[in-house]
Amino acid sequence: MAVVLIIGAGGVGRVVAHKCVQNPQTFSKIILASRTLKKCEIIQKELPEGAVDIACVNADNTEEVVALIRRTGAEILINVALPYQDLTIMDACIETKIDYIDTANYEHPDEAKFEYKEQWAKHDAFKKAGVMALLGSGFDPGATNVFCAYAQKHYFDEIHTIDILDCNAGDHGYAFATNFNPEINLREVSAKGRYWEKGRWIETEPMAIHMPWDYPEIGVKESYLLYHEEMESLVKHIKGLQRIRFFMTFGESYLMHMKALENVGMLGIEPVEHQGKKIVPIEFLKTLLPDPASLGARTRGKTNIGIVAEGIKNGAARKIYIYQVSDHETCYKEVKSQAVSYTTGVPAMIGAKLMIDKTWSAKGVFNMEEFDPDPFMEEMNRQGLPWNIQEL
Ligand code: NDP
Repeated sequence: MAVVLIIGAGGVGRVVAHKCVQNPQTFSKIILASRTLKKCEIIQKELPEGAVDIACVNADNTEEVVALIRRTGAEILINVALPYQDLTIMDACIETKIDYIDTANYEHPDEAKFEYKEQWAKHDAFKKAGVMALLGSGFDPGATNVFCAYAQKHYFDEIHTIDILDCNAGDHGYAFATNFNPEINLREVSAKGRYWEKGRWIETEPMAIHMPWDYPEIGVKESYLLYHEEMESLVKHIKGLQRIRFFMTFGESYLMHMKALENVGMLGIEPVEHQGKKIVPIEFLKTLLPDPASLGARTRGKTNIGIVAEGIKNGAARKIYIYQVSDHETCYKEVKSQAVSYTTGVPAMIGAKLMIDKTWSAKGVFNMEEFDPDPFMEEMNRQGLPWNIQEL
């Protein structure tokens, strides 16, 4: 059992708080902290009285996080704020010697670039402090890394190719909205595509490569190649890998709006002068768009995220598909969040649970596929994310 501090009270933070409350045998005390206390209060009211304590923190400031950890006696910290806070929060965990977990890798606020370099560089500091950092314990990254490790452990002697396939067939009724933080989402989607083949990264124009894919329980959807962070660690840890790609589905309305916004400069991350004031276009756009946390109540349909791995087992070719289907309305009924937040928040709680139980235990900074996938896969079945495997 351990005292858990959750930082970030957005769509994902809500799910993590609900799921920790559902697992009282693991989480002895839960504190939910965020920049805006009001958002914590709303989530606190959804839960049984006394289940969650709340606090206000600016996680850009390491000393504030250190003070909060000391005040609450937190033993593990789940970071579901934004990727910009990863480094300051990690530093606070090193200083106070507590375990750390997140769902998205560090992103430079002033450069649309995300990578593990700065977080991996903290390996020795975590090791010296005698604590563990688990990076990317959401769905993708997160469950998808575990699917790859599971395929490697049980189905292959060598995996040659992996395609990660992410479909959100949810309909929220708006012409344009993003299912998680708009700034993070739009920066990711409008960036150049990139995949890895035979030891090198190949860059493509945004959305240049696409293919139809038949997603079980959803149907055929056009899927677009993007760069996604889990590939950076998977190319290091999956043996024999020759190619890895990531595909995501987008509806026509989403793509059309995004292109138009991009064409007029609304996705810009550089400040522009407006009536004597500096504004960052994408931050202003975020103000105009629906809050992702408000989409839950109106989203219908399903998500399907999985991996297709090809390789050899006992000298014969093999191809398998491991995937997980979630239903937006079912997720909302359970935790008042749509499936994109649900499928991120549940793995964050599972990662923390396995660390608290010492099922996943090590000192330093690690990615998901470095641990035994079996206990994580079992927890997914127990905690609301049942998965399937098909031989293709
Ligand atoms: P939201 O924008 O809904 O929520 C983010 C929360 O973090 C808000 O409550 C926000 O507070 C808070 N926050 C932001 N800055 C600070 C700060 N400096 N100090 C304290 N709190 C802060 O995002 P989501 O819940 O949709 O996403 C959360 C994380 O999950 C993101 O990092 C996202 O990239 C990641 N993610 C990962 C996925 C995966 O599968 N691995 C999929 C989807 C998301 P305020 O309201 O005051 O701004």
